[in-house]
Parts: sequence; structure tokens; C-alpha cells
Amino acid sequence: MAAPSPGARVSRRALVLVGLGVALPAILLAGLGIYLTLRIARAVEDESARYNSYIALQVGEAFERELLDELRRSIPPAETAARSGADTAAVIEALRAGAREFSAPHFVPETELPGTTGLIVESTALLYARGEGARDVRTFAGLLLRGPEGQMLGAGGWWFDPRRFLLAHFEEVVQDRLPENPRLYGGIVSTRRLSVALLGSFGEELLRVRQPGNSRNAQVEPLSGPFEGYAVRVAPALGAPAVWVTRFFGLMIAFIGIMGLATVVAALAGLRYAARQLELAQLKSSFVSNVTHELKTPIALIRLAAETLELRRFSTPEEGQAFLGGIVRETHRLQQLVDNILDFARLEAGQAVFRFEAVDLRAVVEETVENFRPRLEQQGFQVELDLPEGLPPARGDAVMLQHCVLNLLDNALKYSRTRREVRVSVEARDGAVAASVTDRGIGIAPADQKRVFEKFVRVEAGLVHDVKGAGLGLSLVQQIVRAHGGRVELESSPGEGSTFTLVLPLADGTEAPRRGARDARPTDPGRETTS
Ligand code: ADP
Repeated sequence: MAAPSPGARVSRRALVLVGLGVALPAILLAGLGIYLTLRIARAVEDESARYNSYIALQVGEAFERELLDELRRSIPPAETAARSGADTAAVIEALRAGAREFSAPHFVPETELPGTTGLIVESTALLYARGEGARDVRTFAGLLLRGPEGQMLGAGGWWFDPRRFLLAHFEEVVQDRLPENPRLYGGIVSTRRLSVALLGSFGEELLRVRQPGNSRNAQVEPLSGPFEGYAVRVAPALGAPAVWVTRFFGLMIAFIGIMGLATVVAALAGLRYAARQLELAQLKSSFVSNVTHELKTPIALIRLAAETLELRRFSTPEEGQAFLGGIVRETHRLQQLVDNILDFARLEAGQAVFRFEAVDLRAVVEETVENFRPRLEQQGFQVELDLPEGLPPARGDAVMLQHCVLNLLDNALKYSRTRREVRVSVEARDGAVAASVTDRGIGIAPADQKRVFEKFVRVEAGLVHDVKGAGLGLSLVQQIVRAHGGRVELESSPGEGSTFTLVLPLADGTEAPRRGARDARPTDPGRETTS
């Protein structure tokens, strides 16, 4: 390809700057957006976790209060008995009379009080002790009892099963007490959107109010006092705002990320497109100057030769013949260029019409080579042919295919230095037929092998400055072969030579010639390849 002009380099730099100007702020903004969202999400989650753990503690305390209330409701008969100076048996009897939820009344004399643990709940001492023995799941819970003179007698209370007590009071504590508890931070509404579960000593869920929405903010707080060994787990309930907020943050981050990515991709795609347009504009301008040169040179040479012949300004008949030969040669070149340009314009405009029929590829190739042979031999080329008979017919437009082979032969001639050898062959392939043109010329670097088929592209290295061309030939060849449903293969290594192969589908045997605008093509009758 032609090297970019300084102006083009400046515009390319400007494009890169514009692209960076869009992409960098997009990346920065997206990064900032994601960072802030994550920070807010973390703050919301921390706050939610703190609140959940606070509620779990409140639930624990509520159980203790529930136990105290229960004791207070059951103790009055025992208190009355103690105040009246009754003995231990009568106090125990009174405890039995007052027991509501408790089953085993028990009196702890003052001397044994140190064996119990005290807990102050609502300014009242709640005394408790664990049952002794590995299998005893019971716990003692009692209140202090005083005698007639107000002297301390001991504790009156009951053995009870904490697990049963917790299960029995769970709904009440969570559903009724918690939301109505004015001391709770967050108030009533928040606690109604919480899932609260009672956990056993192995962490197993014993009972639950409301299904948890997610476990991210769940907080587990162990219960203490008479309920030691159990725990409460608090999490936002399904559909709670905290769960939605977590999902919303996830969506928000995904959205910001996608928007940022889309902006960067759009900026890069726009940049690529603009760069390609710039390149195309450059290629077009070099194409115009190439074509101008290509058209003017043969016309000037033809004119000069024709004038020389007209004025008989030659001395020998051989000299005159050489001028005639020059005219023929330059006319051929002119014709080929004009054909290329016209075919290219038709293909670009989508106006090219192919007349597909069953074609003997061997005959097409042979005819083209024979037409072109004088030019090859004149330039000292050795032509080797491998054109076996009996090839299955291809589905193709013979004139278009001749044009392709002609372009390949012309390139072999243009891009060979000292090793002037051209080999042309045809062969049958699996479900296809192929025609190859091989030269021992300058070859094409792997990096350029795809690009040479693009329109206006000429490879910078090699003979491109010495030989004429508009960068249209291979683009045309590829477009024509693709229109046939075939493909062009290229094998080449720099300094070794190149092989271009046209692979064409077979005719299916029912091919009827198609009518088309090609019948009216003005260039066909005069085409070099058909003449
Ligand atoms: P043009 O020959 O008019 O420049 P083409 O489209 O036919 O345009 O070829 C494009 C480019 O591919 C050429 O400029 C040349 O650099 C490279 N090329 C084509 N054929 C050959 C070949 N046989 N050997 C080496 N290079 C080639």
C-alpha cells in the first residue's frame, strides 16, 4: 500500500485523540460509578447487618422477658404462702397451684442460692440453673421469695424445658412483641419485613417466621441465660426492601459496566470505521493518479507511434513493424485497464450480470494463455502448461473467467524479476475444478496475503513503484469468483513466488444459459481475451 501522507498521519492522530477523548472518560465514569455503587451497597449491607444483629439481640431479650412475665403470673400463690410464714412444703404446694406452663415446682433455700445464676430482667432478679446430668435438658427458673419480716427465704420456681418454651413463645415474640416494641430501632415496619428463625444447638432451624430473601445480611446471635445453646437468626425477608436494594445494586453495576463497555466499543468501532474511510480515501486518491497515469501513458505512446508511422519517420521496414507492434501492445494494455475499470464499476454498483453455463475450464484457460502467450514470450517468460483433458464442466461465465485468468497472468508477468517462469494448470477437485497460475516472482508476505484482494490495495514492498497497476485486478478476480460460488486460494512466500488458484463449483448438468445485461455490454466484443 502507498505510505500514508503526512496529512493523513495527522488526521489519524486526530482520530486516535478523539477516540481516546471518548473512551477514556467513559472508562473513568464507569469505574467511578461502579466504585460509588459498591461503596453505597457496602454501606447499606453493613447497616442492614447491624440492624439484623440488633434485632436478634432484642429477640433474645424478649424471650427472657416472656419467661419473667410467665414467672410473675405464676408466683403469687407461692409469694403469699412465703409471706405468711408457711414451711417449704407449703410453698412448693403453692408453686404447684400457681404453675401455668411449668411442670416441676422447686424451691431453692437461701443457703443454696449461690448454686444458681442471676439475671436482672426489668429490675427483677431472674434466677436460673441448668439441669444436672448429660441427659437432663431441663432448666430451673425462679424468683426470690421473702418471709413475713421481708427476710430472704430462697427462690421459688419451676423446672422447664427451654426448647419447648422457646417454640411455644416464638410466634408471640416475633409476630406481636417485636413489631410493637417501641424501644426497637427502626420501628414496626422494618421488623415486619424480617425473617426470624430459632436455631438449635447444631445450628439447625427449629422454627421460622417468614422466608429469608437472601443470606448475605443474615445475622446469628446466640441466646444466653436460661436459653443458652440456642440462637436466633435474623435476615431480610423475601421481598423486603433490603433484598431489592441488593439486587438493584447488582443490576446497577451491570448496567454501568455494560454502558461503559458499549461506549468504549462504540468509540473504537467509530474510530476503526473513520480510519478505514480515511485509508479508503487515500487509496482512492492514489487509485485516481495511478489510473490517470495508466491511461495517459499508452495513449501517448500509441499517438507517438501512429504519428511516426503517418509521417513515415522510420528508416527500415523492421523499425516500422516495431512501431506497429508497440501500438498493438499498448492498445491491449489500455483495453485491459478499461475492462477492469468497467467491470469493477459494474460489480460495485451491483449491476454486473453473469451468464452462467457449463464451462470447460481447461478450454477457457488454454485460450486465455494462448492470447497472452506473445506478451509473456516477448518478456522472456517460459510458459509451462498442465492442462489435462476430461475435466468435469464448471458452472461459470466463460468471459468473466477468462478475465480472471488474464489478470493472474498479467500479475505473474508484472511481479517477476529474474526468474521468468509461469506455470498454468487445471485439475479436478472434490466437487470442484481449479485453475492455478504460478510464478517465481517476488511473492507476497503473509501479512499482506489477505489485503491484496482488497480494492485499490497495492503492496508497498517489491516492484510496485516500477510496474503499472491500479490495485483492482485481484479485487475483481475475487469478486467474480465469489459470484460463481467459488473461492480464490493464494500460496506465496516472499522471494519464492506465488500461486493463485481459482476454485469453481461443478455444473450440475441442468445449467441453462441465463439471459442478462451482459449481452448488451459494450466492452465484450472488443475484449482482449475474447478477440
Ligand atoms: P495491481 O497489480 O494493479 O497493483 P492487483 O489487485 O492485481 O493490482 O494486485 C494487488 C497487489 O498485489 C499488487 O500491487 C501486488 O503488490 C500484489 N500482487 C498481485 N499479484 C502478485 C504476484 N503474482 N506476485 C507478487 N505480488 C503480487
